[in-house]
Amino acid sequence: MIIAGIDLGSTAIKLVLVEDGQILWHKAAPTAPGQEKIAAKLLDEGLLALGCPGESVAKAVTGYGKHLVASADFVIDELTVNCLGIFRQSGGQARALINIGGQDVKVIRLSERGQMTDFKMNDKCAAGCGRFFEVAGRILDTEVERFGDLTAGVGEAARINSTCAVFAESEIVSLMAQGVAKEKIIQGLHESVARRIAGLCAGRDLQDDVYLDGGAAQNPGLVRALEDELCRDLHVVALPQFTVAYGAALSAA
Ligand code: ADP
Repeated sequence: MIIAGIDLGSTAIKLVLVEDGQILWHKAAPTAPGQEKIAAKLLDEGLLALGCPGESVAKAVTGYGKHLVASADFVIDELTVNCLGIFRQSGGQARALINIGGQDVKVIRLSERGQMTDFKMNDKCAAGCGRFFEVAGRILDTEVERFGDLTAGVGEAARINSTCAVFAESEIVSLMAQGVAKEKIIQGLHESVARRIAGLCAGRDLQDDVYLDGGAAQNPGLVRALEDELCRDLHVVALPQFTVAYGAALSAA
């Protein structure tokens, strides 16, 4: 039986179609007004792609907008399903998770059975999240999807000192005006965000297997910067932006 896991995030709506614990299809769309309609469109597209258009499937909904889908069969808490999704995706290895989403960062510790034992979230500040990179990307006329490749082997970064996204934007403009290379500015942003995330992890006894997920975990430049800042290797599962939606489908199953 196919189950649709739907994660209505602050920045992106993610949908996975799952059968027997396997993701058969996945897609994300930007969050916009009319979230139920956007999710329904994704669902139609997925079922069509799988050759079963119009099939009736159970819908497990989670994320900030989880109460906006009137047709949901299950409405599930996002932290619980994030733990479930990452635990299964990691083959039961994950003991700590850093979720870097569009508008928040969460640091979660998991037990040997994959249950949440500790949780901390940033303070609704854009400076450490995916949205910050998007805003910076617009100023730099560069898509966030290219940030990782552009900064591979870039060497010394431009220093971004502001801990506030609004002031960091002026810093970026000023660095551009000074002729500092775009790559160095982006690397500076990676390092700045990595420092903030490391601050959130400080004092938490993160054990060996630390996983990263959320959309921004798809940026290898940020992953490298965070590894340097935390002095450890980090794991990124396949489809890191979809672990929450996947966990919702698993939970419903
Ligand atoms: P939310 O659940 O809060 O909506 P997501 O976990 O879906 O957030 O992450 C959304 C963020 O992921 C966006 O802000 C975007 O900048 C970032 N993102 C998505 N895809 C990529 C990518 N390929 N490379 C870098 N960042 C990405």
